Amino acid sequence: MIIDFHVHVSDREGCTEELLKAMDENGIDMAVIFDCGNNETAFNMQKAHPDRFIPFGYIRWGADDPSGIDELVDQGAKGLKVIRPTMNYNDPRLFPYYAKAEQHGLPTLMHTGIVARGKPDVPSYDDTSRMQAIWLDGPCRMFPRLNIIVAHMGNPAHEDAGMMARWHPNFYYDLSGSSLLHRSHQFFRELFWWDKETRFSRRNPWRPFEKMVFATDEPYEQMHEPMAEQRALLEALDQPQEIIDKVFGGTAAKLLKLEES
Ligand SMILES: [Zn+2]
Repeated sequence: MIIDFHVHVSDREGCTEELLKAMDENGIDMAVIFDCGNNETAFNMQKAHPDRFIPFGYIRWGADDPSGIDELVDQGAKGLKVIRPTMNYNDPRLFPYYAKAEQHGLPTLMHTGIVARGKPDVPSYDDTSRMQAIWLDGPCRMFPRLNIIVAHMGNPAHEDAGMMARWHPNFYYDLSGSSLLHRSHQFFRELFWWDKETRFSRRNPWRPFEKMVFATDEPYEQMHEPMAEQRALLEALDQPQEIIDKVFGGTAAKLLKLEES
């Protein structure tokens, strides 16, 4: 089963049909979906197509009350999307949000690195520096039963995120976005030097790409591009089919507690 772990949706007319068409064309069975402006969108899409969509919920960490996470669960959220917090990801004032996510067993997809600037003329309190992957080192330790999936692998701080994938059993990543376009396969070969037996393997027995989930985060008509890039990276780095299958769905199914079919 192929699962895309990072798909934005909206309530505009035709969104569901266009996404399903793109998924069918690319052989994608299921997608993690979220609309950070209107949670209802994803919940309604899941109700109409429960076999295709997995809805994640969004509240703004640091601004909205953490109890909003309880409400999202009641409405059907299977995970959380986090972006644009009002403070650094490791600020203890955000710990109540992590605690709620952990308590509900919600896989939490967290934006890291460079954040888009959609309306350059409008003043905004957004700040890339609050969403650095390294700020998740503390939360990974503090909330050991919470699975954090780092979107964009810290772009451009891939080194930090790569090392954290090695040390934290509950740290996962996706390589959506422009990461792969400006990093060579050789870069990942060096970053993931620990993709072999080392004297630390007994303590951290997982391999680098067992922590990666396939994700597109692109307009639907371009989904095939990140899909091809991510597959090409895995093949260039000589990953066995078993690992490729994990990246394209096995690891996501485990994180989402889906029945294997
Ligand atoms: Zn995104």
